[in-house]
Amino acid sequence: MQQPILDVSDLRMGFSTIGGTVVAIDQVSFRLHRGEVLAIIGESGSGKTVTAMSIARLIATPPGRYLGGSVRIGDEDILTLHEAAMEEVRGSRIGTIFQNPRASLDPSFTVGAQLTETLRRHDPQLTRDGARGRALEALRQVGFPDAERVMASHPHQLSGGMCQRIALAMTLACKPELLIADEPTTALDVGVQARILMLLKRLGRETGLPIILITHDIGVVAAMATRVLVMYGGHMQETAPAEDLLENPLHPYTRALIDALPDPDAPVGTLSFIEGEPPNLADPPPGCRFAPRCPQATAACHADLPGWREVAPGRSVRCHLV
Ligand code: SF4
Repeated sequence: MQQPILDVSDLRMGFSTIGGTVVAIDQVSFRLHRGEVLAIIGESGSGKTVTAMSIARLIATPPGRYLGGSVRIGDEDILTLHEAAMEEVRGSRIGTIFQNPRASLDPSFTVGAQLTETLRRHDPQLTRDGARGRALEALRQVGFPDAERVMASHPHQLSGGMCQRIALAMTLACKPELLIADEPTTALDVGVQARILMLLKRLGRETGLPIILITHDIGVVAAMATRVLVMYGGHMQETAPAEDLLENPLHPYTRALIDALPDPDAPVGTLSFIEGEPPNLADPPPGCRFAPRCPQATAACHADLPGWREVAPGRSVRCHLV
């Protein structure tokens, strides 16, 4: 078996509040290998973004607090690194792209200046010409045949989709071992979304770069993911190879998410949705976090937290009934 690029084990992250520590994610464990695209899905507040941000150590501490666990990249537990060393890891080992690509670009500098500056910061040995060459190569890799023109442009002269491709080029030019993409297409037009997703998929396939893709969109999961992790109430609820999970979801929450996908052929007024609200993590239910909304909940579900169990090779679920 290949050595994983990323090994997350029993990760717990909390936030200090006036009322005490709110545990936002608990017992999160998974591994990511070369060439894998892991989609982490769930509603807002499920813990998917906190998981991704905790892995890249992008949550301010305080108010965030690591309550336990480890995040290993190769042989190194990055939770033990000092911030200066972590700065190195971010960018050169872990690349990140976010929902709003313009936020990662400075409006006062050209794309070229920002790309070469980023590259030289990560590799001080790189000459100005070397950095320019790498920047041009990265822009062509993300689908800009006119890379010279893009280098000379300011961000305001480019569309949102172009800015996202530039943010991706900036990340890839530093040759990370892992890419975290947090809702990378949510703020973009539908046509541009598809283009960015296909680009990510192609890059993952061609370079073997493992990707963690945070999304609430099951359509994106179907198009991109090799594996899926479903989160709810800060807990992992189900993980499986993408095809298995989409064809045969085992956890009632996963089923509800898939059922809530709009069906263009369904009669008007038959849109399905999950009744109720996600749990308040300052005061979570004592048993299964999904019990108050689960149509199959039993008395045991309300009283006891189900364990995380492997039910088939590569497939694990947290549910009393599976
Ligand atoms: Fe539903 Fe019970 Fe399973 Fe939770 S443990 S998902 S409440 S059936």
